[in-house]
Amino acid sequence: MAFDFTGKTIGITGAAGIHGIGFAIARKFLQYGAAVFICDLDEKALSGAEALLQEYGTVKAYTVDVSNSQAVSGMFEKAIRDFGYIDVFISNAGIYPQVMVCDMTEEQWDAVMAVNLKSVFLCAKECRRVMDRGGVLINASSFAALLGSAGSGAYAASKAAVYNLTKTLAAELAPYGIRAVGYLPGVIETGMTKEVIESREKELTEAIALKRLGKSEDVADAVCFLASEQAAYMTGTFIEISGGKLCVQNPDFAWKRCGTA
Ligand code: NAP
Repeated sequence: MAFDFTGKTIGITGAAGIHGIGFAIARKFLQYGAAVFICDLDEKALSGAEALLQEYGTVKAYTVDVSNSQAVSGMFEKAIRDFGYIDVFISNAGIYPQVMVCDMTEEQWDAVMAVNLKSVFLCAKECRRVMDRGGVLINASSFAALLGSAGSGAYAASKAAVYNLTKTLAAELAPYGIRAVGYLPGVIETGMTKEVIESREKELTEAIALKRLGKSEDVADAVCFLASEQAAYMTGTFIEISGGKLCVQNPDFAWKRCGTA
């Protein structure tokens, strides 16, 4: 499906990693004609990403800690100054520490909630403030929001909260013409999942109905759809992009031939 975002401005957090979902989303929107601003923590990585994205269109990069309210307000101010309006904003930044709940320090817990959840709250408030002609707010949750997640319980809890918060935002922002939607990636090959994939790629792949890991581009296409006019009647909605991760309880039966008896 091709989209036309000509004349629109799209903001994306956590987009410095060139194999990451945020970078792929930024590239897609640029290819569909939008102007884009990206943010991330690491200034050097961010300017590298900005340089690569400039090949596709107009892009600006801001170094921002999305868990800091002043930094987030500053980003929205700069974006309004640079672009005039923000049509679509994507809260994509996240962290994924692999620690069992009872082994976590209070600081680790707070960091997960600050980056994955509080940032969504802070950005939603800014969207409400600046999107005075309406817009679309898109939040990154995870399939982990729907399940328990041994070894990453704080992450799963933060993503479940993002899922729920987005549904409330859909109702609270509707009077302002702002849709609030989200995406639930499965296991996508990015910097975030590199270690986990390296340690058990075979098991992870076998537990996916389509029997392959996801690519950032798989997620980017779905996000462009959520932002588009074609999704104008969707709010409070999440799209799962997981290759059927939640469909395989017993990998022994996945891809076994059936219907021939
Ligand atoms: P990624 O490549 O690690 O991207 C996340 C980005 O957020 C990184 O560039 C990271 O920077 C940045 N970030 C972390 N803390 C930040 C902060 N305080 N302020 C600004 N930026 C910050 O991971 P990804 O896989 O593309 O993930 C994108 C989103 O999809 C995340 O919300 C993730 O939870 C979600 N998701 C991913 C998967 C998957 O399988 N990959 C599955 C489900 C959900 P640093 O690298 O410097 O930390």
